[in-house]
Amino acid sequence: MLEIIVVTLWGSCAIYTIWYSTSAKHYAPITSAEARLLWKIHKQNFNCNARRWRKIKHGGEIVGFECECGHKHIQRKPIVGSSPTSRNVNQQNSPTLIIERLHSFYK
Ligand SMILES: [Zn+2]
Repeated sequence: MLEIIVVTLWGSCAIYTIWYSTSAKHYAPITSAEARLLWKIHKQNFNCNARRWRKIKHGGEIVGFECECGHKHIQRKPIVGSSPTSRNVNQQNSPTLIIERLHSFYK
């Protein structure tokens, strides 16, 4: 009987951990400059002539932008590879970051 309770507790704990880690990955905070850069990339990709955009914030952090044309972009993955020197070595070798890189490589 006790084993069932323990297994159930561990199971719900594992589900919570998975849910938490996946929902945490949902948004990737970016800087104002990165949002502007992404907007410029959007303008090039979509031949968009809009002159204005606004930041989309989530929990006080910038997570994307909304273009005047109605296009919305939410950053869901951290921007990697742009400036390797600014990141520390531990972050570079973390398994999650490597997985992120593999994902963007095969995209
Ligand atoms: Zn646009």
